[in-house]
Amino acid sequence: MRQTVVAGNWKMNKTPAQTTELINELKPLVAESKNKCIVCVPFTSLANAIEATKGSNIEVGAQNMYFEESGAYTGEIAPDMLCEMGVKYVIIGHSERRQYFAETDETVNKKVIKAFEHGLTPIICVGESLEQREQGITVELCSMQTKIALKSLSADQVKKCIIAYEPIWAIGTGKTATTDQAEEVCKAIRETVEEVFGKDAANEIIIQYGGSVNAGNSKELFEKENIDGGLVGGASLKAADFSVIVNS
Ligand code: PEP
Repeated sequence: MRQTVVAGNWKMNKTPAQTTELINELKPLVAESKNKCIVCVPFTSLANAIEATKGSNIEVGAQNMYFEESGAYTGEIAPDMLCEMGVKYVIIGHSERRQYFAETDETVNKKVIKAFEHGLTPIICVGESLEQREQGITVELCSMQTKIALKSLSADQVKKCIIAYEPIWAIGTGKTATTDQAEEVCKAIRETVEEVFGKDAANEIIIQYGGSVNAGNSKELFEKENIDGGLVGGASLKAADFSVIVNS
């Protein structure tokens, strides 16, 4: 049995003080949850998030990192910088980073490898645009994105990964994939993992769905065999809504 893992992607929202406030509101609401709860906050809020989550069952993630150790990369954040703060997870390859910040499948792979070198768990995002879905290449594309993202990893590393299937047309649009559409792609991603890394890796890897997950649809989505939780944007900014999703 895989654990259900729910991660909130706060994107470019919440100042440090607002971060402390939101986490303090969330803590009692998810305290009894059997599911894993992660909040991926802006870099500037990581210190507050680490402090506010101490002694709770909420873990902290970043939303990006660079694939080099240090050097002349103005504005970038190195894995060590995250680790020293106590960060455990890092979102890699979110579609917004692919779309606005030139992230590619290759840079995603470099970042995933680097995350493992530092003991960070990557939450790797894959997903198709509406045009690609209409072309009928969703499964093929997500399978290819998965293969490239995981290239050069060992099966044991792959077991520890989290992949978030996020159809781009469903992110922040209020349009959720149907549970069957989400399950179909999550299953295909698991089959891809099995093909390359074997059955154990496929059975253990966590595959989330993301794209307008809310308090009303999370339970039905997470009940699907191949959907092990969600990556949640908008709804993770409201403690009441996010806690319902985490407790789904
Ligand atoms: C996301 O940012 O990863 C996401 C899924 O956003 P939303 O839940 O707002 O669609």
